[in-house]
Formats: sequence, C-alpha cells, structure tokens
Amino acid sequence: MGNFSQDNWRWDLQWRRNLFDHEHDLAVSFMEDITSICIQRNVKDIMMWKAEPNGVYSTKSAYSLMLKLNDSGSQDRFSKLIWNLNIPPRAAVFIWRLLKDRLPTKGNLLRRHVNIQDVGCPLCGQGQEEVGHLFFNCKRTINMWWESMGWIKAESFDFLVGCSN
Ligand SMILES: [Zn+2]
Repeated sequence: MGNFSQDNWRWDLQWRRNLFDHEHDLAVSFMEDITSICIQRNVKDIMMWKAEPNGVYSTKSAYSLMLKLNDSGSQDRFSKLIWNLNIPPRAAVFIWRLLKDRLPTKGNLLRRHVNIQDVGCPLCGQGQEEVGHLFFNCKRTINMWWESMGWIKAESFDFLVGCSN
C-alpha cells in the first residue's frame, strides 16, 4: 500500500480493478483521508482516546465529554441547525428526538415501564435496542451510516479517535 522514503511514508495504492465512475470521488476522498494520517517507521499504531491526555479511555472523561456536548450552547446550535435544515418537518422532529434520546426504542419503552419481553436489537440480535446501539454500534446499520456520512463529507467521529502522535 506504500513505502517509506527515508522516514516519510508515501501511499502507493494499487487498485485490484479499474474504478467505476461513481467510485472516483470516493477514492479521492479516501486518499485525502489517509494522506493526513501520519505513519511512522518505528512507532506502534494505536487508537487513542483524545479526551484523556494519556490517550486511555475513562468513564469520567466520557461523561465530561458528554456534558460538554450537551451544554446549552451546543443544544442551541444543534436546535438551530436542525430546524433550519431544508428537510421535511417530520425528519427534523425525528433528528431532534434522536439527539434527545426520545425515540421509542425498546430500551426507552422499558424505562417507561412498558412491558417488553425481548429488548434485543431486532436487526442484529446483539445488544439492547437503544439509540446508541442502533445508530452507532449495530453491525447491521453502521456501514450505512458511514456511507451516508461520506455522501455529506462528514467526519463526526474524528473528535473521539485520532492518530497516536
Ligand atoms: Zn443491532
């Protein structure tokens, strides 16, 4: 996929087939993404939790991060963004309910004392049906979200995970 020229990594991807027209933009976007990644010759590649100086995940830092994201300034910004989108009001309401965790997931219904026998995710069967699972962790939906984020050139998970240096 590439090689070192002295200590600098150069990507040299060889595609197994010619790209279809609709894949060219994706390939360019992919190359832009990986070009910004710094690969170092003698440094182990690791995932880091940016909310902690040592890069190690902690519940405390996650909670603190959630509070920051959930402060009134962010909420005002999100609310303005949502309600000013040129989308059907029904979609805006859905997004607002999603961000507020007010969707009638099985987990939320259970917390409201609705009698539910099976709280598992109906798509993958693993994990409880919660907003977090459905939209960020479910193996049946995660690829769809990544793909659609690519369409709008969003990189919303970048603030959590990054390069080790
Ligand atoms: Zn699932």
